[in-house]
Amino acid sequence: MPELPEVEVVRRGLESHVVGRRILDVSVTGARTARRQPGGPAEIVARLTDRVVSGAGRRGKYLWLTLDREHTAGADCLLVHLGMSGQMLVTTTDAPRVRHLHARALLDDGRELRFVDQRTFGGWTVVPLAEAADGTRVLLPAPAAHVAADPFEPGFDELATARTIRRRDSEIKRLLLDQTVVSGIGNIYADEALWRSGVHGRRRAGALTLATVRGVLGHAREVMSDALDAGGTSFDALYVNVNGASGYFDRSLDVYGRAGQPCARCGAVVVREDFMNRGSHFCPGCQSAPRRGGATRSRSVR
Ligand SMILES: [Zn+2]
Repeated sequence: MPELPEVEVVRRGLESHVVGRRILDVSVTGARTARRQPGGPAEIVARLTDRVVSGAGRRGKYLWLTLDREHTAGADCLLVHLGMSGQMLVTTTDAPRVRHLHARALLDDGRELRFVDQRTFGGWTVVPLAEAADGTRVLLPAPAAHVAADPFEPGFDELATARTIRRRDSEIKRLLLDQTVVSGIGNIYADEALWRSGVHGRRRAGALTLATVRGVLGHAREVMSDALDAGGTSFDALYVNVNGASGYFDRSLDVYGRAGQPCARCGAVVVREDFMNRGSHFCPGCQSAPRRGGATRSRSVR
């Protein structure tokens, strides 16, 4: 599944290759691609045709294209759901029709924007822009209006977010994954940020210091920024690709997916445990687990 850094690479690719282009013709053939659109494929075609792509936006893992000059609440945007395997490709019109090609938009420079999705959890929806629910007046696709700012946004308030996390006082990892608290931190980067911070994901946020919680948020930004630096230049001029063979980043991860291997910091064996229907990876040596009942074992007395 694409994480924030991959989505940001797609956004940058769309900004370079699609923004400024007029959409001349649209075709949506995938049965599931338009399933979120009340009027189905015909409505997507009608609302995209003859519009100019004016911007490429992202918050967390939400990705959208704004249309025409209407950066106002109520104006249409194209919300792109990448799902598990969605790809946005910019190709020449004579490029081979690959399998799993579900939607195409012919651009006025003779190229084609394609939506390819093997597992069909993704799709396109034309929706209105709306002001963010947090009162910041940032314009977001209406279905994403409840999503909190992500750590990459200029307007991200790390201190206020850390305070919210401590006040909610749930398990720290659960709060990192809660898109109404902070967006864009998926399972992989939550585990990596917690490892860098030396904090176990099941620790109660209210029992951590404000500085520790700010540190976790800082590390989340840092690990995603490292991933972006490593993979952010991997698309070429004709190919904007989220997660095809060459599109997924080679993630250099310290703890995620490394169960049974030694921790790079202390040598203890990395553990995987079930968490929220997924897995959490952590080092029992440098990320002390909370005791049952909520009290937290301190490293010095372990
Ligand atoms: Zn360790």
